[in-house]
Amino acid sequence: MRTPIVAGNWKMNLGRSQAQELASGLRETAGKEKGVEVILCPSYTLLHVVHDAVQGSSVALGAQNLFWEEKGAYTGEVSASMLLDSGCSHVIIGHSERRQYFGETDASVRRRLVSALEAGLIPIVCVGETLEEREEGSTELVIERQISGALERFKPEDAAKIIIAYEPVWAIGTGRTATPVMAQEVHRMIRNWMAKTFGDDVAEGVRILYGGSMKPGSAAELMAQPDIDGGLIGGASLKVDDFTAIIQAAR
Ligand code: PEP
Repeated sequence: MRTPIVAGNWKMNLGRSQAQELASGLRETAGKEKGVEVILCPSYTLLHVVHDAVQGSSVALGAQNLFWEEKGAYTGEVSASMLLDSGCSHVIIGHSERRQYFGETDASVRRRLVSALEAGLIPIVCVGETLEEREEGSTELVIERQISGALERFKPEDAAKIIIAYEPVWAIGTGRTATPVMAQEVHRMIRNWMAKTFGDDVAEGVRILYGGSMKPGSAAELMAQPDIDGGLIGGASLKVDDFTAIIQAAR
């Protein structure tokens, strides 16, 4: 039995007081839910505020990215050990917005993954096809290329620590959600790839989240699919009521 995960990707949103209010509100609601792991991923500048607001509760803290070097002359970058020092347990890696706007590739995703795992952070690695790729029928090919580029040659015990998020690019922030059947198909394919590459035990244990305009109204049906183990939520994670409703649906 895999414990579901609901992670909130706040992206480049909120100031200190709004973050404090949202995190404290979620501590009261999400912090009381049993049987679901809840992770909040604010921007770097808000990590300390959110850390203080959720400290002592079951809500975990994650970042939205990291750089693979440990320290040094890398202006503007943040390392895995800095994230740990800020109280993070998780980190999102390879989000499509990073691939689209910041030149992230499967190879750079892999370097970030290695660095996260070495530091003891739990990575949430994102994969997903564009609308064009879906329409030309290459979804499977694209996802396989992304996950094998990022994960192949890992030891099974390391692969077992990774959380995967399937996020069709065309569904992110667009209000257009994949149907449960569509999402399940890709999740199944990812789990099959994990089984073929790392063995059945790793594949059975790995949590695969769906992301892409998941809202309270669509969450339950998506997460009822056998291979969907929770959600990575953007827009709806910025509202206490919506995010809490999604967590309750996961439970
Ligand atoms: C995301 O950015 O990971 C995401 C899923 O965003 P949204 O829920 O807003 O589509």
